[in-house]
Amino acid sequence: MRIPPFRSQGSIRLDRKKSAAGLPIEPLGPSTLMAYSLRQRQGHIAVPRVAPGDHVFRGTVIAGGRSALDPPIHASTSGTVMACLEAPFAHPQGRSALTLEIASDGLDQATPPLPPLSIRDLDRTGLIRRLHEAGIVGLGGGAFPAALKAAQEIPLHTLIVNGVECEPYVSGDDQLMRERAQEILEGADMFAHVLGIKNILVAIDEHLLDAMTAIHEALKAFPQERFKVSKVEGRYPGGGERQLIERLIGTQVPSGEMPQTIGVICQNVGTLLSLGRAITQGEILTSRVLTVGGESIRTPKNLEVRLGTPIQDVIRYCGGLLAPNALLWHGGPMMGFEIKDSLSPVTPGTHAILAFEAPAPHPLPEPCIRCGACNDACPAYLLPEALYRASRSAQLETLRTLHVGDCIECGACNVVCPSHLPLIETFLLGKEKLGRLSEERERAHHARQRYEARISRLERQEMERERARLERKVALEKNSTPKILEAIERARRKQQAINTTLLKERSDDDLL
Ligand code: SF4
Ligand code: SF4
Repeated sequence: MRIPPFRSQGSIRLDRKKSAAGLPIEPLGPSTLMAYSLRQRQGHIAVPRVAPGDHVFRGTVIAGGRSALDPPIHASTSGTVMACLEAPFAHPQGRSALTLEIASDGLDQATPPLPPLSIRDLDRTGLIRRLHEAGIVGLGGGAFPAALKAAQEIPLHTLIVNGVECEPYVSGDDQLMRERAQEILEGADMFAHVLGIKNILVAIDEHLLDAMTAIHEALKAFPQERFKVSKVEGRYPGGGERQLIERLIGTQVPSGEMPQTIGVICQNVGTLLSLGRAITQGEILTSRVLTVGGESIRTPKNLEVRLGTPIQDVIRYCGGLLAPNALLWHGGPMMGFEIKDSLSPVTPGTHAILAFEAPAPHPLPEPCIRCGACNDACPAYLLPEALYRASRSAQLETLRTLHVGDCIECGACNVVCPSHLPLIETFLLGKEKLGRLSEERERAHHARQRYEARISRLERQEMERERARLERKVALEKNSTPKILEAIERARRKQQAINTTLLKERSDDDLL
């Protein structure tokens, strides 16, 4: 466990352009052909549960759902499964993934909602089950399964409601707080109640004044002593979970640990809204709010989009691009990445789709001059230049020792690097390799455990057989009458005589 010495947190001031700020959330209906990438967190591929030709409804489980790490993927409209094939999905390296394609039937019929739950009867097990069934994952961009977050049986004292939207152009959470503050707070209240959390801290970026007013207004209906609103300084990255906790609570989350270890849990505003609806209305997660913006989008919007909608359809709905060669971006300008194929679908992690004029050619990277600027900028107390060297030479153990897992991919090191090194891109690759290595180790560990269990089972069975044989022998000797013993002895002598004769005949034949 690493607890670095306290020092002022690395952060930078960014331009606060928000092309869709204040625009009401518009719902966008399903596309003709929806695509559901089966690649989940850390490269895990969900197992399909439907086949081409099957008819599905909005809310039908189409893949995954076998464990807490594998939340179910639901169809977001009704239609027919057309194919299960490799198709593009939003990935920094532009990879493809196994994808289920569903042709919409235009009826948008839904499965019946899950039964509403009463908060009074709901316990932690019920909450975890409901979050899993409804496919609730973190909507801040990480898509971490909410059920898994709630499953840690550690006493918690504070829930942080994360309304700190600190990246330029992104305004979905801001708009959610302005329009649906009541539902967000209800979700927070229920979540905190079930997990026995006493304090709820609503953290809002200092620049989101309308959102703050809406939250204060909605709070009038809730117990005042439970809730507190915190204005967070508008620096980047202000909304990173660990950075936010440190700012608000004054305690650092130890490296490699979840915030729960220090009694705190953090949830994004969109996640809390979906979570509340899953409990009270039995609603399954089939859509999310996202921002479509940037200088090259004709009409920036805040939209509620069905998961699985091709990104090109979302852009088309916003009037298309102002420049044909515009650069498409998934997520915020700092933590996001280029969309290599606009057929990639919207996933729970898509909180923004941005488009910019094609940038001037990126200056060619030059060798690291060890200036240390990246170390100073890193809000996670990491050593980006050392991580860069370890990632480039695939030194996975060194990467682990340097806590690459703590990198929140904020891109602050990239911004300050005078050598224009692709630091964050290299870390992402390193993290992925490390994730695969851990998975392989986990699999090997389980295989060894299964093998050892089988060997000990076989040994146990053999011992039981031997004990039964001895018990039978003892019982026979104990219960036998002299007559039976005599008969056994006669049979034994007879068998011995036969054996002797056979041996003699064999040796006579050898002599001849
Ligand atoms: S991207 Fe990672 S290493 Fe770079 S500054 Fe952000 S947290 Fe630190
Ligand atoms: S900022 Fe760039 S050049 Fe400076 S130490 Fe970090 S990686 Fe090297």
